[in-house]
Amino acid sequence: MTHTHIALDWSEHADNACDSDVLQTNQFRVHGVLSREAQITGHCPYCYGSIEFTRKLKLLPANPSGTTGQSIGKKTMDITARCTCALDHPGRPAGERGCGRSWVATGHK
Ligand SMILES: [Zn+2]
Ligand SMILES: [Zn+2]
Repeated sequence: MTHTHIALDWSEHADNACDSDVLQTNQFRVHGVLSREAQITGHCPYCYGSIEFTRKLKLLPANPSGTTGQSIGKKTMDITARCTCALDHPGRPAGERGCGRSWVATGHK
């Protein structure tokens, strides 16, 4: 990946085009057995900063009717990732990281 970081103004709204080529290169992993986490690493498809985003997964009890539970039987899952790049974005609130933008990464379980 040879994209240069873009110092976009910090925003929680994706007003810029999401670079789907970069999105494709996001690595998606699920860790753990009892306490599962999804980890997404790669580059932000908006600012091209390198990111490492971790989200705890909810463990839902399987329901015999199959109507609840986290995507039972599905081979993929979607996680909303948020930019965590460490580089500067003008207007970023204190304590925040990244450019504020988020996107949906699809991973294989
Ligand atoms: Zn970003
Ligand atoms: Zn950035």
